[in-house]
Amino acid sequence: MTDRVARAASAAQAKAKPSAPDGKARGGKAAGRFAFILLVSSTLFAQSSIPDWCRPLPRPEYKSLERVPVTDPWFEVYKPAPGVFAIYEPHQAEEVISYLIVGGKHALLFDTGMGISDIKKVTAELTKLPIIVLNSHTHDDHVGGNWEFATVYAMDTDFTRKNAQGSREDAQAEITPDQICGTLPKGFDAKAYSTRPWKITAYKHDGDRIDLGGRTLEIITTPGHTPDAISLIDRANGLLLTGDTYYPAPIWLFRPETDLDAYAASIRRLAALAPKIKLVLGAHNIPVAQPSILPRLVTAFAAVRAGKVKATPDSPGKVLYKVDNISFLMRAP
Ligand SMILES: [Zn+2]
Repeated sequence: MTDRVARAASAAQAKAKPSAPDGKARGGKAAGRFAFILLVSSTLFAQSSIPDWCRPLPRPEYKSLERVPVTDPWFEVYKPAPGVFAIYEPHQAEEVISYLIVGGKHALLFDTGMGISDIKKVTAELTKLPIIVLNSHTHDDHVGGNWEFATVYAMDTDFTRKNAQGSREDAQAEITPDQICGTLPKGFDAKAYSTRPWKITAYKHDGDRIDLGGRTLEIITTPGHTPDAISLIDRANGLLLTGDTYYPAPIWLFRPETDLDAYAASIRRLAALAPKIKLVLGAHNIPVAQPSILPRLVTAFAAVRAGKVKATPDSPGKVLYKVDNISFLMRAP
Protein backbone atom coordinates (compact mmCIF):
# COMPACT_ATOMS: atom_id res chain seq x y z
CA MET A 1 0.00 0.00 0.00
CA THR A 2 1.06 3.48 -0.69
CA ASP A 3 1.78 5.76 2.17
CA ARG A 4 -0.70 8.54 1.52
CA VAL A 5 0.68 10.86 4.18
CA ALA A 6 1.94 13.97 2.47
CA ARG A 7 5.45 14.97 3.34
CA ALA A 8 8.28 17.11 2.24
CA ALA A 9 8.85 20.41 0.53
CA SER A 10 11.14 23.13 1.64
CA ALA A 11 10.00 25.85 3.99
CA ALA A 12 10.14 28.24 1.06
CA GLN A 13 7.41 26.28 -0.67
CA ALA A 14 5.12 26.16 2.32
CA LYS A 15 3.16 29.08 1.00
CA ALA A 16 0.02 29.62 -0.97
CA LYS A 17 0.31 28.49 -4.52
CA PRO A 18 0.43 31.25 -7.10
CA SER A 19 -1.80 31.06 -10.14
CA ALA A 20 0.01 28.20 -11.75
CA PRO A 21 -1.37 26.67 -14.93
CA ASP A 22 -2.73 23.83 -13.22
CA GLY A 23 -3.22 25.41 -9.84
CA LYS A 24 -5.57 22.94 -8.25
CA ALA A 25 -6.32 19.29 -7.99
CA ARG A 26 -8.40 18.09 -10.89
CA GLY A 27 -10.54 15.81 -8.83
CA GLY A 28 -11.56 17.90 -5.89
CA LYS A 29 -11.45 21.21 -4.17
CA ALA A 30 -8.16 22.93 -3.66
CA ALA A 31 -7.28 21.47 -0.36
CA GLY A 32 -4.99 22.66 2.34
CA ARG A 33 -3.76 25.42 0.09
CA PHE A 34 -2.41 27.10 3.18
CA ALA A 35 -1.32 23.93 4.83
CA PHE A 36 1.45 24.85 7.16
CA ILE A 37 4.38 22.68 6.85
CA LEU A 38 7.28 20.92 7.17
CA LEU A 39 10.57 19.88 5.99
CA VAL A 40 13.70 21.14 7.57
CA SER A 41 16.65 20.28 5.34
CA SER A 42 16.39 16.60 4.57
CA THR A 43 14.39 15.56 7.60
CA LEU A 44 10.90 14.36 6.78
CA PHE A 45 7.97 14.86 9.10
CA ALA A 46 4.61 13.27 8.79
CA GLN A 47 2.03 15.85 7.84
CA SER A 48 -1.11 15.71 9.90
CA SER A 49 -3.36 17.12 7.20
CA ILE A 50 -3.59 15.09 4.03
CA PRO A 51 -4.79 17.09 1.03
CA ASP A 52 -8.47 16.43 0.30
CA TRP A 53 -7.80 15.39 -3.30
CA CYS A 54 -5.50 12.68 -2.01
CA ARG A 55 -7.99 11.02 0.35
CA PRO A 56 -10.15 9.14 -2.20
CA LEU A 57 -7.13 7.69 -4.01
CA PRO A 58 -6.64 5.16 -5.46
CA ARG A 59 -9.50 5.88 -7.83
CA PRO A 60 -11.78 2.83 -8.24
CA GLU A 61 -11.50 2.83 -12.06
CA TYR A 62 -7.94 1.56 -11.77
CA LYS A 63 -9.08 -1.75 -10.28
CA SER A 64 -10.24 -2.98 -13.67
CA LEU A 65 -7.04 -2.00 -15.48
CA GLU A 66 -4.03 -4.23 -15.94
CA ARG A 67 -1.18 -2.91 -13.81
CA VAL A 68 2.38 -3.19 -15.07
CA PRO A 69 5.11 -3.31 -12.42
CA VAL A 70 7.89 -0.72 -12.62
CA THR A 71 10.68 -0.05 -10.14
CA ASP A 72 10.05 3.67 -9.48
CA PRO A 73 7.28 4.10 -6.87
CA TRP A 74 6.57 7.66 -8.06
CA PHE A 75 4.83 6.21 -11.13
CA GLU A 76 2.05 3.69 -11.55
CA VAL A 77 1.82 2.08 -14.97
CA TYR A 78 -1.31 0.53 -16.47
CA LYS A 79 -2.08 -1.11 -19.80
CA PRO A 80 -5.45 0.21 -21.01
CA ALA A 81 -5.05 -1.27 -24.53
CA PRO A 82 -2.57 -3.58 -26.30
CA GLY A 83 0.77 -1.84 -26.74
CA VAL A 84 -0.36 1.22 -24.78
CA PHE A 85 1.00 2.09 -21.35
CA ALA A 86 -0.60 4.77 -19.19
CA ILE A 87 2.12 6.25 -16.98
CA TYR A 88 0.30 7.81 -14.05
CA GLU A 89 1.68 10.13 -11.34
CA PRO A 90 -0.77 9.73 -8.44
CA HIS A 91 1.38 11.45 -5.82
CA GLN A 92 0.94 14.94 -7.25
CA ALA A 93 -2.35 16.82 -7.53
CA GLU A 94 -2.35 17.00 -11.31
CA GLU A 95 -2.58 13.19 -11.39
CA VAL A 96 -1.11 13.53 -14.83
CA ILE A 97 -1.04 10.58 -17.22
CA SER A 98 1.55 10.21 -19.99
CA TYR A 99 1.16 7.49 -22.61
CA LEU A 100 3.71 5.22 -24.19
CA ILE A 101 2.41 3.77 -27.46
CA VAL A 102 4.50 0.95 -28.81
CA GLY A 103 4.79 0.03 -32.47
CA GLY A 104 7.04 -2.48 -34.23
CA LYS A 105 10.01 -0.16 -34.72
CA HIS A 106 9.44 2.90 -32.57
CA ALA A 107 7.50 3.91 -29.52
CA LEU A 108 5.87 7.28 -29.03
CA LEU A 109 5.70 8.93 -25.64
CA PHE A 110 2.69 11.26 -25.57
CA ASP A 111 3.74 13.64 -22.77
CA THR A 112 6.53 13.26 -20.26
CA GLY A 113 4.80 14.19 -17.00
CA MET A 114 5.95 16.37 -14.15
CA GLY A 115 9.70 15.86 -14.33
CA ILE A 116 9.64 15.08 -10.60
CA SER A 117 10.99 11.59 -11.13
CA ASP A 118 12.74 9.93 -14.08
CA ILE A 119 10.17 8.99 -16.74
CA LYS A 120 12.88 7.93 -19.18
CA LYS A 121 13.92 5.19 -16.79
CA VAL A 122 10.32 4.00 -16.62
CA THR A 123 9.94 3.91 -20.40
CA ALA A 124 13.19 1.95 -20.66
CA GLU A 125 11.60 -0.72 -18.47
CA LEU A 126 8.59 -0.88 -20.80
CA THR A 127 10.25 -0.92 -24.22
CA LYS A 128 13.69 -1.21 -25.79
CA LEU A 129 12.55 0.60 -28.95
CA PRO A 130 13.71 4.13 -29.72
CA ILE A 131 11.30 6.69 -28.32
CA ILE A 132 9.79 9.74 -29.98
CA VAL A 133 8.34 12.35 -27.64
CA LEU A 134 5.31 14.38 -28.66
CA ASN A 135 3.29 16.50 -26.23
CA SER A 136 -0.48 16.82 -25.99
CA HIS A 137 0.35 20.47 -25.23
CA THR A 138 3.20 22.18 -23.46
CA HIS A 139 1.91 23.07 -19.99
CA ASP A 140 4.54 22.25 -17.39
CA ASP A 141 2.84 19.09 -16.12
CA HIS A 142 3.11 17.43 -19.55
CA VAL A 143 6.66 18.30 -20.56
CA GLY A 144 8.70 17.74 -17.38
CA GLY A 145 10.75 14.88 -18.83
CA ASN A 146 11.14 16.22 -22.39
CA TRP A 147 14.74 17.25 -21.75
CA GLU A 148 15.75 13.63 -21.22
CA PHE A 149 14.90 12.55 -24.76
CA ALA A 150 16.83 13.00 -27.99
CA THR A 151 13.81 13.05 -30.31
CA VAL A 152 11.07 15.53 -29.48
CA TYR A 153 8.43 16.43 -32.04
CA ALA A 154 6.53 19.65 -31.47
CA MET A 155 3.74 21.71 -32.89
CA ASP A 156 4.80 24.72 -34.86
CA THR A 157 3.48 27.44 -32.54
CA ASP A 158 5.04 30.33 -30.65
CA PHE A 159 3.43 29.02 -27.47
CA THR A 160 5.34 25.75 -27.89
CA ARG A 161 8.64 27.48 -28.61
CA LYS A 162 8.28 29.70 -25.57
CA ASN A 163 7.53 26.76 -23.29
CA ALA A 164 10.47 24.80 -24.71
CA GLN A 165 12.69 27.33 -22.95
CA GLY A 166 11.55 25.91 -19.62
CA SER A 167 10.42 27.76 -16.52
CA ARG A 168 10.71 27.60 -12.79
CA GLU A 169 7.61 29.30 -11.41
CA ASP A 170 4.92 26.89 -12.60
CA ALA A 171 7.02 23.92 -11.59
CA GLN A 172 7.64 25.25 -8.07
CA ALA A 173 3.91 25.75 -7.60
CA GLU A 174 3.37 22.04 -8.30
CA ILE A 175 5.27 20.87 -5.24
CA THR A 176 3.71 22.89 -2.43
CA PRO A 177 2.59 20.51 0.34
CA ASP A 178 -1.08 20.68 -0.67
CA GLN A 179 -0.09 19.33 -4.08
CA ILE A 180 1.71 16.23 -2.88
CA CYS A 181 0.13 12.93 -1.83
CA GLY A 182 2.60 10.54 -0.29
CA THR A 183 6.31 11.00 -0.70
CA LEU A 184 8.41 12.79 -3.24
CA PRO A 185 11.10 10.61 -4.83
CA LYS A 186 14.26 9.92 -2.85
CA GLY A 187 16.88 12.51 -3.66
CA PHE A 188 14.37 14.94 -5.20
CA ASP A 189 15.76 18.47 -4.95
CA ALA A 190 12.74 20.70 -4.30
CA LYS A 191 14.74 23.92 -4.45
CA ALA A 192 16.20 23.10 -7.84
CA TYR A 193 12.94 21.80 -9.31
CA SER A 194 11.99 23.50 -12.55
CA THR A 195 10.71 22.63 -16.00
CA ARG A 196 13.95 22.09 -17.84
CA PRO A 197 14.36 23.42 -21.38
CA TRP A 198 14.23 20.93 -24.23
CA LYS A 199 15.25 20.77 -27.86
CA ILE A 200 12.62 20.48 -30.57
CA THR A 201 13.89 18.09 -33.22
CA ALA A 202 11.02 18.35 -35.73
CA TYR A 203 7.80 20.29 -36.20
CA LYS A 204 4.51 18.53 -36.84
CA HIS A 205 1.20 19.71 -38.23
CA ASP A 206 -2.45 18.78 -38.38
CA GLY A 207 -3.00 15.48 -40.19
CA ASP A 208 0.62 14.36 -39.94
CA ARG A 209 1.03 10.63 -39.51
CA ILE A 210 3.70 9.05 -37.38
CA ASP A 211 4.59 5.52 -38.42
CA LEU A 212 5.78 3.43 -35.49
CA GLY A 213 6.10 0.27 -37.59
CA GLY A 214 2.81 -1.60 -37.96
CA ARG A 215 1.07 1.16 -36.04
CA THR A 216 0.25 4.64 -37.24
CA LEU A 217 -0.71 7.63 -35.13
CA GLU A 218 -2.28 10.69 -36.68
CA ILE A 219 -2.17 14.20 -35.27
CA ILE A 220 -5.42 16.09 -34.87
CA THR A 221 -4.89 19.66 -33.80
CA THR A 222 -7.35 20.50 -31.04
CA PRO A 223 -6.47 24.03 -29.92
CA GLY A 224 -8.45 25.65 -27.14
CA HIS A 225 -6.99 24.57 -23.80
CA THR A 226 -3.75 25.88 -25.31
CA PRO A 227 -2.86 27.01 -28.84
CA ASP A 228 -0.69 23.89 -29.28
CA ALA A 229 -3.14 21.29 -27.96
CA ILE A 230 -3.41 18.13 -30.05
CA SER A 231 -5.10 14.77 -29.94
CA LEU A 232 -3.72 11.56 -31.40
CA ILE A 233 -5.76 8.95 -33.17
CA ASP A 234 -4.78 5.35 -33.75
CA ARG A 235 -7.45 4.53 -36.31
CA ALA A 236 -6.64 0.86 -36.73
CA ASN A 237 -7.00 0.23 -33.02
CA GLY A 238 -9.81 2.69 -32.33
CA LEU A 239 -7.89 4.77 -29.80
CA LEU A 240 -8.15 8.51 -29.30
CA LEU A 241 -5.73 10.27 -26.96
CA THR A 242 -7.21 13.61 -26.02
CA GLY A 243 -4.62 15.26 -23.74
CA ASP A 244 -6.27 18.05 -21.73
CA THR A 245 -9.00 18.60 -24.31
CA TYR A 246 -10.91 15.86 -22.53
CA TYR A 247 -10.23 13.88 -19.36
CA PRO A 248 -12.71 12.58 -16.77
CA ALA A 249 -12.33 15.42 -14.21
CA PRO A 250 -12.94 19.19 -14.24
CA ILE A 251 -11.50 20.45 -17.52
CA TRP A 252 -9.40 23.54 -17.03
CA LEU A 253 -10.32 26.37 -19.35
CA PHE A 254 -9.27 29.40 -17.33
CA ARG A 255 -5.76 30.25 -18.40
CA PRO A 256 -5.01 33.32 -20.54
CA GLU A 257 -3.83 31.07 -23.38
CA THR A 258 -7.17 29.25 -23.44
CA ASP A 259 -9.45 30.11 -26.38
CA LEU A 260 -13.05 29.04 -25.81
CA ASP A 261 -14.17 29.37 -29.45
CA ALA A 262 -11.26 27.23 -30.55
CA TYR A 263 -12.06 24.71 -27.81
CA ALA A 264 -15.70 24.46 -28.95
CA ALA A 265 -14.57 23.76 -32.52
CA SER A 266 -11.99 21.21 -31.37
CA ILE A 267 -14.40 19.14 -29.31
CA ARG A 268 -16.88 19.12 -32.21
CA ARG A 269 -14.10 17.72 -34.34
CA LEU A 270 -13.40 14.99 -31.79
CA ALA A 271 -17.08 14.17 -31.36
CA ALA A 272 -17.31 13.51 -35.11
CA LEU A 273 -14.71 10.77 -34.63
CA ALA A 274 -16.62 9.03 -31.83
CA PRO A 275 -18.26 6.38 -34.07
CA LYS A 276 -14.81 5.30 -35.28
CA ILE A 277 -13.20 4.80 -31.90
CA LYS A 278 -13.42 2.37 -29.02
CA LEU A 279 -11.57 4.15 -26.24
CA VAL A 280 -10.77 7.73 -25.20
CA LEU A 281 -7.56 8.23 -23.24
CA GLY A 282 -7.23 11.55 -21.43
CA ALA A 283 -4.28 13.12 -19.66
CA HIS A 284 -5.44 13.37 -16.03
CA ASN A 285 -6.86 11.29 -13.19
CA ILE A 286 -8.31 8.29 -15.05
CA PRO A 287 -6.93 6.91 -18.32
CA VAL A 288 -10.07 5.49 -19.86
CA ALA A 289 -13.41 6.87 -21.04
CA GLN A 290 -16.03 5.76 -23.53
CA PRO A 291 -16.32 7.53 -26.91
CA SER A 292 -19.94 8.42 -26.14
CA ILE A 293 -18.53 11.07 -23.79
CA LEU A 294 -17.41 13.18 -26.77
CA PRO A 295 -20.81 14.22 -28.20
CA ARG A 296 -21.95 14.78 -24.62
CA LEU A 297 -18.94 17.02 -24.07
CA VAL A 298 -20.02 19.15 -27.03
CA THR A 299 -23.56 19.46 -25.70
CA ALA A 300 -22.36 20.26 -22.19
CA PHE A 301 -19.97 22.96 -23.35
CA ALA A 302 -22.58 24.51 -25.65
CA ALA A 303 -24.99 24.70 -22.71
CA VAL A 304 -22.35 26.45 -20.60
CA ARG A 305 -21.63 28.98 -23.31
CA ALA A 306 -25.32 29.61 -23.87
CA GLY A 307 -25.62 30.60 -20.21
CA LYS A 308 -27.83 27.62 -19.36
CA VAL A 309 -25.61 26.17 -16.64
CA LYS A 310 -25.32 27.60 -13.13
CA ALA A 311 -21.81 28.57 -12.12
CA THR A 312 -20.50 27.37 -8.76
CA PRO A 313 -17.83 29.63 -7.25
CA ASP A 314 -14.49 27.90 -7.01
CA SER A 315 -11.09 29.33 -6.15
CA PRO A 316 -10.80 33.15 -6.51
CA GLY A 317 -11.68 34.30 -10.03
CA LYS A 318 -12.82 30.85 -11.13
CA VAL A 319 -16.13 29.07 -11.39
CA LEU A 320 -17.10 25.48 -11.99
CA TYR A 321 -19.82 24.51 -14.46
CA LYS A 322 -21.23 21.03 -14.10
CA VAL A 323 -23.38 19.19 -16.61
CA ASP A 324 -24.04 15.59 -15.52
CA ASN A 325 -20.58 14.15 -14.93
CA ILE A 326 -18.78 16.65 -17.17
CA SER A 327 -17.38 19.80 -15.62
CA PHE A 328 -15.42 22.83 -16.72
CA LEU A 329 -13.30 25.10 -14.54
CA MET A 330 -13.45 28.54 -16.10
CA ARG A 331 -12.83 32.20 -15.42
CA ALA A 332 -15.60 33.82 -13.41
CA PRO A 333 -17.87 35.85 -15.69
ZN1 LIG B 1 -2.81 21.76 -19.58
